[in-house]
Amino acid sequence: MKHLYRHLTWTEVRTRAEQGAVIVIPIAAIEQHGHHLPVDVDNVLVEYVTEEAARRSDGLILTMPMIHYGFNEHNMGFPGTITIRESVFMDFVYDVAHSCVRQGFDRIVLINGHGSNQMLCNLVARRIVNTTKALAAAAAHWSLSKPAVDKLRESQFPGGMAHACEFETAIYMHIRPEGVLHDKIGGREAPSSLNEFIFDDLFGSGPMHLVNRWSRLSESGVEGDPNLATPEKGKEFAECSIDALIRFCREFRNLQVPPERDYNYKNPNL
Ligand SMILES: [Zn+2]
Repeated sequence: MKHLYRHLTWTEVRTRAEQGAVIVIPIAAIEQHGHHLPVDVDNVLVEYVTEEAARRSDGLILTMPMIHYGFNEHNMGFPGTITIRESVFMDFVYDVAHSCVRQGFDRIVLINGHGSNQMLCNLVARRIVNTTKALAAAAAHWSLSKPAVDKLRESQFPGGMAHACEFETAIYMHIRPEGVLHDKIGGREAPSSLNEFIFDDLFGSGPMHLVNRWSRLSESGVEGDPNLATPEKGKEFAECSIDALIRFCREFRNLQVPPERDYNYKNPNL
């Protein structure tokens, strides 16, 4: 069965909505990833995870065409970065998801590959739930890799896995090894580990949230330990996310939705 939305005809889209396919929308960014990786890292990683999950899901998942650009003002000091204003980004992602709901799809999953998009994706998912009868959920793909990361991680926590790091470099090595400039891979750089309150890691950040302008903090654009990345780790990280995404979509499809209640006083004057 076809697993990519872009390959369907309109009658096939209608049939898949009727069959209850789960829509997965991959969302990423075009941004600097240090001296050793291209600007398409977030796109390549999230597209691979979402399209592989759909391909292996026996028709359960339909993956949408990628949303390539993200909210990235903090990285504009580095060439190669494209930023979309937060309100434009949210409206755009909402309109894509909402179009799917209007076609009859009632389970929408936003899978994101860029840290600064995450809070906005969470809000878009909530906006879908608040404005339609569909259910929408959101996650960053690395969150789905946690069991594999717990097993294989060598870099220090926090700070070893944040950006163009052990995690992202490893998966890129696995998916598109020819794009990695091995002689440009540097050592550890952990610029945002400021104190006990402010630190960044894909697998847990400090209690205070501060997103500073990146060029104030990092010379190379990296945050983490890319020298600890291997394609073998990358394969395990990616496989873990793919497997988790399929299992989540199966549970999400079968999730029973209790009826909504309204206990408010019905004021006849209103
Ligand atoms: Zn990235």
